[in-house]
Amino acid sequence: MEDNKVFLTKHPNIDYIVYGDGEKSFSNIIENYKRLDMCKEWRSKLKLIPIDGCRTLLDNKLIHGNPLNPIMNLMEIPSPYLTGVFDELLQDPLLVPILQNIRGCPYKCRFCVSGTQLGKIRNFSLERIKEEITFLRHNAKNRIIRFSDDNFGLIKNDLEVAKYIRKYFDTYKYPTSIKIYSAKKQNDKTREVALILKPLMTYCISFQTITPKVLKESTRISATHEETVESISYARKNGLSTATELIFGLPGETLESWKEVINKTLSYGFDSVSMNPLWLLKGSDLNQASTRKENQYVGKFKLAENAITHYGDFISIERDELAVQSKYYTFEDWKTYLKYQINLFMGTFYGYAKELLYYANSINIKPTALFDYVLNDPKKYPTINQLVEDYVNEFIGNMFDTEEELYNFINDNLTKLKEDKESLLRLAHGRSMLTYIIKYMLKDPEKKYLREIRNAICDINSSEEVKEDTRLILNLAIKLIIDPFDKAFVPNIEIETKYNFRSWVLDGYSKRLGFYKFDKPQKITLKCRNPYSVSKTIEEDQKQKRTDCFNFFRYMNSSLMRRYID
Ligand code: SF4
Repeated sequence: MEDNKVFLTKHPNIDYIVYGDGEKSFSNIIENYKRLDMCKEWRSKLKLIPIDGCRTLLDNKLIHGNPLNPIMNLMEIPSPYLTGVFDELLQDPLLVPILQNIRGCPYKCRFCVSGTQLGKIRNFSLERIKEEITFLRHNAKNRIIRFSDDNFGLIKNDLEVAKYIRKYFDTYKYPTSIKIYSAKKQNDKTREVALILKPLMTYCISFQTITPKVLKESTRISATHEETVESISYARKNGLSTATELIFGLPGETLESWKEVINKTLSYGFDSVSMNPLWLLKGSDLNQASTRKENQYVGKFKLAENAITHYGDFISIERDELAVQSKYYTFEDWKTYLKYQINLFMGTFYGYAKELLYYANSINIKPTALFDYVLNDPKKYPTINQLVEDYVNEFIGNMFDTEEELYNFINDNLTKLKEDKESLLRLAHGRSMLTYIIKYMLKDPEKKYLREIRNAICDINSSEEVKEDTRLILNLAIKLIIDPFDKAFVPNIEIETKYNFRSWVLDGYSKRLGFYKFDKPQKITLKCRNPYSVSKTIEEDQKQKRTDCFNFFRYMNSSLMRRYID
């Protein structure tokens, strides 16, 4: 309650905090507002009424009604799409429609807000989802769909939803892609859902961390080693792309344990690995005053993604609070984490260097050892060092010690906001990342980033075999790139090779290349997983005259940004 008071005092433009399932509580506010009929001093009169599910502040006193029970039958909630409430929003191509299939998460990860809420899973009917998808196909300018489900594939109904989406995509080429979080626990159902939605989604086996005591401290249940191996092998056999995500900064995580997390995670050979710092989310257990104190978290503030809204004179800004220091790591350690982060984004999230990194791992050069080696020698590896320096400086330069400093900075640049909003949005991580990918990968005809990774592997192990293998893998890595700046998008290309790269990948990049030598060179095809979606995002960028490939990077799964070996 005290937190709410502080929050409402700090943000006088916010009148109410609405808890839990918001639909009933919010309509309670509207109902009372209508009853007052805009009478004199309606605002303070409204605030005087204790409204169930809501909290408000009047004369420094918190006024609240009773907590509301969760809505167990979600079908009581009318669809904002089917009732036309969102008609205007759907005309904006930058706004991604969000659908909800299930609500609730049975897990209790301490860094997450869903973990503090009712875990009981409730779902909308399949009929409702079908109607909404059909409605969006006819009405939404943005052609992708985001599902807000926390664990897709958890319940039986998800299988039916997945089948419907796949059939719909095959028939109408809609949606062009979907964004969705796979269920945390791996089983036959999650795998089947991923298989059904193969062209549209990446099979995500989300780790966050794999340090045992950190998992325990965070009350996080991730896939076990055995489940991960089984799921990845299933995915490879069936041509699914795989991904995982990591969070640095959970209680108990040190820089040393983090290096282990990176090395072990990359040894699984995921198609995509992303890594982000811990965000101290409002409402999460890790953001409670006592927990912050216990872990000695120090936060800095950064503009959240695409998070400036201005309407006339009204400006709304959202921010993320990053845990840049704790009792387990210093701010210097955190900066080292950032150096790994940009290399992982470049190398394994967008995937440009993953074959080289996985090859290095197979000859006992651990990813973090390789990055450390490169970063210790800026003269020999100038491109990677320049990238890391620019990235870390910009990242840190765009953080603020307090929310007020961030808000003041935006407010001081309001003229700029009206003339060139994009330059301010670069304060956030996602937008600025694109500029590095474009500068250091797509727009570099020599692909120096990849060449330096290859050179470092050869400098650490200078055998003729490694030189030859990495030369071939480097050429392969370059050919796998789908470059949205190319004059024409070519989904599939053929190359001649003396190695059976497909078998190498199917074996998890674990054996040396010599094991896969063809009797004589053969042609293999490098394929795009979903040419339709890729071409649509490229077209959209061209239509909007964007030079940062925003649609390509933002509205597609990472598995579509490169080809795969068929
Ligand atoms: S992180 Fe995912 S699994 Fe964990 S509580 Fe949040 S939604 Fe649930």
